[in-house]
Amino acid sequence: MKLAERMAYFDSSGIRKVFDLASKMRNPINLSIGQPDFEVPEAVKRAAVEAIESNKNGYALTQGMPVLREKLQAAVDAEYGHGDRRVFVTSGTSGGLVLALLALVDPGDEVIVFDPCFVMYPSLVKLAGGVCVWVDTYPDFHVDLDRLRAAITPRTKVILFNSPGNPTGVVATDTEIREVARLAAERGIALVSDEIYRAFCYDVPFVSPATFNAETLVIDGFSKTYGVTGWRVGFAHGTQAVIDAMQKMQQYTFVCAPQPAQWACAAAMDVDMSAYIADYRRKRDRLLAGIGDLYEVVTPGGAFYAFPKVPWGTAGEFVAEAVRRELLIIPGDIFSARDTHFRISYAASDATIDRGVDVLRALCRA
Ligand code: PMP
Repeated sequence: MKLAERMAYFDSSGIRKVFDLASKMRNPINLSIGQPDFEVPEAVKRAAVEAIESNKNGYALTQGMPVLREKLQAAVDAEYGHGDRRVFVTSGTSGGLVLALLALVDPGDEVIVFDPCFVMYPSLVKLAGGVCVWVDTYPDFHVDLDRLRAAITPRTKVILFNSPGNPTGVVATDTEIREVARLAAERGIALVSDEIYRAFCYDVPFVSPATFNAETLVIDGFSKTYGVTGWRVGFAHGTQAVIDAMQKMQQYTFVCAPQPAQWACAAAMDVDMSAYIADYRRKRDRLLAGIGDLYEVVTPGGAFYAFPKVPWGTAGEFVAEAVRRELLIIPGDIFSARDTHFRISYAASDATIDRGVDVLRALCRA
């Protein structure tokens, strides 16, 4: 059977290779996973069980169950006070990204993505028929406004922004966020802000570009903040017109986010996660204390990743050697046009981080 040509847009071989290797190892040092290692808070688990036991198992409303959607709307209204900002519940943050691009991008439209970026962005842009225009952010992983301006053409439709960022963990500065937001508004470009790591900001409070540009479409979710990546609950907020279009697409694609998980996510919004976040800040510091003297690495202010430069060879060669020593990390070319850095996730136990640090210290001299 001949597959559709669009299947060529999706190449998951790089990350899959790392997972395949992990499954064959007895006791791998796994610093490759973008998933919190903490247990879901008890109150949140109980809310999920209760929802299932009280028969809240059917289709949810397309826009999300009122118990969650109304709570999200109140939080968004309190934060931004925008007259035209509506929330709806998506099937994971990924679901929100898919719908956003399908709702905004016409064939041939250009979408600006910052290099390096989350693996899904380039594939989703192509799925929507768009063309990815990469804006390099090396070596500090902050947006250079001149580079961004130079990338804009009459076909630029969307700027896809992500802070704190995957894979770098870098948090954009207030000035940077304000300038990107203003530039998008001035040029009539849709600004899509992926804020899935907003809770994981260690050094400064989180700032959204929506603060400076009221038309910003925000894509967010519960996966990372509460450790519920398998529940597939996210949300999006933006102008009514865009949210209506995304909801319409949801009706014909994902249908809804899982209903029991929505009840539990509504309960999660009342849980204070600050101790968990503080623990991740400590893990960040632990990792940096372990490798900061040997590796060129930008201090990540958020998320749970660091993106150091490889000390020798290409990232592919370096990661292959790390994997031979049972350390699972991700080579930079999965996220980037360059193959010079590697991603470490410190969403792991202290013991695993320490084992990883030992291998990385030895590898630096290899
Ligand atoms: N955006 C970014 C930047 C991510 O890192 C991830 C998950 N790794 C997602 C979106 C997708 O999140 P979800 O599991 O909620 O679909």
